[in-house]
Amino acid sequence: MKRMNFLRILSVLFIFSIAFTACNNDDDSKVEPNSISEYKTPKYVFFFIGDGMSTPQINVTEAALNDQDFTLKSASISSTVGIGKLNIRQFPVAGMQTTHAEDRYITCSAAAATALATGYKTTINTIAMNGERTQDFTTMAEMAKAKGMKVGIISSVSIDHATPACFYAHTPDRNNYQEIGQDLIASGFDYFAGGNVRFNKYKDYSLNNFITDATAQGYSYVNTKAGFTALNANSGRVIATLKSLETYTGDSGAMPYAIDLNAQESEDDKITLADFTEKGIELLDNENGFFMMIEGGKIDWACHANDVVSSAMDVVAFDEAIGVALAFYKEHPDETLIVVTGDHECGGLTLGFASTDYETSFDLLKHQTESYFIFTNKVKAWKQAGTKTFEQAMTEVKTSFGLGDESKGLGLSEYEESLLRSAFEKSITGQNGYSADEAYVHYGSYDPFTVTVTHILNNKAGIDWTTFQHTGTPVPVFALGQGQYEFSGYYDNTDIAKKIIEVAKYQ
Ligand SMILES: [Zn+2]
Repeated sequence: MKRMNFLRILSVLFIFSIAFTACNNDDDSKVEPNSISEYKTPKYVFFFIGDGMSTPQINVTEAALNDQDFTLKSASISSTVGIGKLNIRQFPVAGMQTTHAEDRYITCSAAAATALATGYKTTINTIAMNGERTQDFTTMAEMAKAKGMKVGIISSVSIDHATPACFYAHTPDRNNYQEIGQDLIASGFDYFAGGNVRFNKYKDYSLNNFITDATAQGYSYVNTKAGFTALNANSGRVIATLKSLETYTGDSGAMPYAIDLNAQESEDDKITLADFTEKGIELLDNENGFFMMIEGGKIDWACHANDVVSSAMDVVAFDEAIGVALAFYKEHPDETLIVVTGDHECGGLTLGFASTDYETSFDLLKHQTESYFIFTNKVKAWKQAGTKTFEQAMTEVKTSFGLGDESKGLGLSEYEESLLRSAFEKSITGQNGYSADEAYVHYGSYDPFTVTVTHILNNKAGIDWTTFQHTGTPVPVFALGQGQYEFSGYYDNTDIAKKIIEVAKYQ
């Protein structure tokens, strides 16, 4: 009804503007009205959220992987990524969103995801509640479920982490993992997949308690490749994760970084975000339609650690999951809407660095073979053993990052070597002559040696970082399918949820 009136007003304005233009030809300050407002209500909605992903993360991924020789360490990642080649490039409509929280300009994943899931601003660390934490906000996933649709929530970090939690849980603090786990079970949503729950944060509850309670509510808990492959449309409610996360040897309950995928020993740990998305379609497709939220959560974590290669590889893994939705869209173009965005930028990542002037050497990044996370675990072991010399450590750096290898164009200047030596001392002995605040500017809360290695490698490529936390940089939005044109323009993160809820008629 509202739309009809709007169209009528538009057509009146249009006739008026023709009459006006006829007698005043030099008025080109006017913007053509957007008349593309016809669309069908999408039965299938995919909402992709790249955590910590804004334009620098997307662009650096295409630039870094443009080199033909880039050795892609993940079995699942195709070698054809390069400038202009991400699936995101196929989206016909782009917009831009502001991300600020109710009480802080630079947001966190909880406040941002509350905005994206509900259409309301909230305060830092709050999960789908108002800023005062006195009232729950209904999420678009809950609305879709109430309409009889099936709902899937997928994340490469723990499934109770802030971003996924904001679609099914309501709690004053993102660290209330036990409450979030219980909300997960009570949601009745059909498919949870990716990382596990963070049961090590439970107060008086365990993973066994969680599985028992989930099973009582009709969920199957699956953590093997065979079990995952066997899942089908008749499997009922499913929680699917990776085997190693059962014993919590992983990275805070998250899936491994895409760059480390091949290094996983068990096939049970080699299920990708794209695999989880593809299975989601198989499990959720039904006559009432579905809503699926897919988060690329470790793009953010790699950016917190200022490791651009691990971030880029996770952007590719995220983009491959988008590719799965694109293939589905091609089969159901009249019934599908796909929206892709990030929740905030992370790291203050930029393309361009002081010492390289206008030049970039993104091809140097191809020599990194593992994530900062794996390398930091090695440094921790050296610290414990207490026998590793700086020279020995640099041999390992050469193997894992190429840094120090002149034949690869990665020889070190005296200045760079002094930075590495100082960081190594800090990592192994805790001493390097820096005051605490000076050390924080250099290393954040990360292992000093590892973060100095990634900084120097990134800088040599012509890339730099301003922070170990999020930034207030706006974030792009991409849309494809029914209602896609609603997503063009420059608006607030709360508007994205409002647009999806309106287009899909969730309310
Ligand atoms: Zn973050």
